[in-house]
Amino acid sequence: MDGHASSNIFGFLSPHDFRPLHLQNGFRQQGFHRHFSSVFFMVMLTFFSLLLLMAFPGCSTAPASAPKGTEVAIPVPDTAGLDPDKRARRLLQTTPIIDTHIDFPYRLVERGVWPKAGFEALALRHPEGHFDYERARKGGLYGAFMSIYIPAAYQQKPAGSAHALADSLIDLVHAVARAYPDKFAVAYRADDIERNFQKGIVSLPMGMENGAPIETLADVAYFHQRGIRYITLAHSRDNRISDSSYDTSRTHGGLSDFGRDVVREMNRVGIMVDVSHLSDQAIWDVLAVSTRPVIATHSACRHFTPGFERNLPDTLIRAIAQKGGVIQVPFSHYFISTESRRAFRTAEARMKEQNIPKESAKARRFMEKELTRAGFSVRHVADHIDHIRRIAGIDHVGLGSDFDGVGLAIPPDLADVSMYPNLIAELFRRGYTDEEVRKVCYLNALRVWKANE
Ligand SMILES: [Zn+2]
Repeated sequence: MDGHASSNIFGFLSPHDFRPLHLQNGFRQQGFHRHFSSVFFMVMLTFFSLLLLMAFPGCSTAPASAPKGTEVAIPVPDTAGLDPDKRARRLLQTTPIIDTHIDFPYRLVERGVWPKAGFEALALRHPEGHFDYERARKGGLYGAFMSIYIPAAYQQKPAGSAHALADSLIDLVHAVARAYPDKFAVAYRADDIERNFQKGIVSLPMGMENGAPIETLADVAYFHQRGIRYITLAHSRDNRISDSSYDTSRTHGGLSDFGRDVVREMNRVGIMVDVSHLSDQAIWDVLAVSTRPVIATHSACRHFTPGFERNLPDTLIRAIAQKGGVIQVPFSHYFISTESRRAFRTAEARMKEQNIPKESAKARRFMEKELTRAGFSVRHVADHIDHIRRIAGIDHVGLGSDFDGVGLAIPPDLADVSMYPNLIAELFRRGYTDEEVRKVCYLNALRVWKANE
């Protein structure tokens, strides 16, 4: 469906073409002279190759070119023994982070800069938001899922409104990638992430938050073709697909019949089903219908927030894992714990008392001070990762920050995309191995994406 199917320049070669030259038929029929000169040539080639390797020892670890369909592994250094902060930075040199939920596109809508001329520059450097190119590179973020967020209010608007907003936000992401092709690329396939990472390019895959734009089943294939790789079935209100955790109406008692068809169609065309925001019953319904592993792109553990349905209970965490899926942990005070939610609300009320405007530099400074005093940090986010690892296994947890979607409710040491290394260092402090950290950073999310392609 997408242009990447033909991007492999070796696509037209048969396996035969990869056999060493001396095993191919024509060679045996050549005369002695040509045979001798070929042998001489190969000896010289080997000699010069050895010289080159001695001059540049780093070359010996470069991945060998591989036939089509074989993964080219990025060489990974052994970081054991380094102090946790150095170790995190070292690991991230060979490990791209995938974050499955960043609300950068809608933030530009909220701030009124999309679709004004020159808006693309905010993707390079954004003075207020949580995401930009400079900070992404600093933090090791190379797979930044752009959230195509449709507010639930669009469900009340005339038919086609949600669809039009989705198209407009998708245009925004494509425009950023077009404006800076050496820095950003829209990722259509899971393999694009590693390939772009090796070129220093930040991949921008897209996920749709709220299935409201899906008015007919044909819309699923349409949005897949436009680059959407997951759909969060509902947002803050029940929609025609599913019930939402925030909505007490329980319109369908889980998934609707149309919702079941949408899940089957997503399985068919290759879009991951995102169960974040859904009611518990809707998630059980998704697990019963989906033939592919599912993802929770930004959901934490209800274990730390009893009664808060937006976070997942242990039973659902285990069930998602049993199906091969992954839970991507968000960073905000909204998700961390009952106490962190209260601390943020108190700080927000105090800010209001002092008449500090929400979107000001003063507000940011005020909140940073208040939240530092409240003491919530990467350690609390790591607690959620630990919890999922303990009850479901290390293969089922990843990162889904919700950056740009949670305002100022974010721990000061995990406050934008430059700060993932603080969280990685905390995981090392807790005894995680390199391989375990790599799974959290991106391998688990990549596995689920590939299983849906
Ligand atoms: Zn959300």
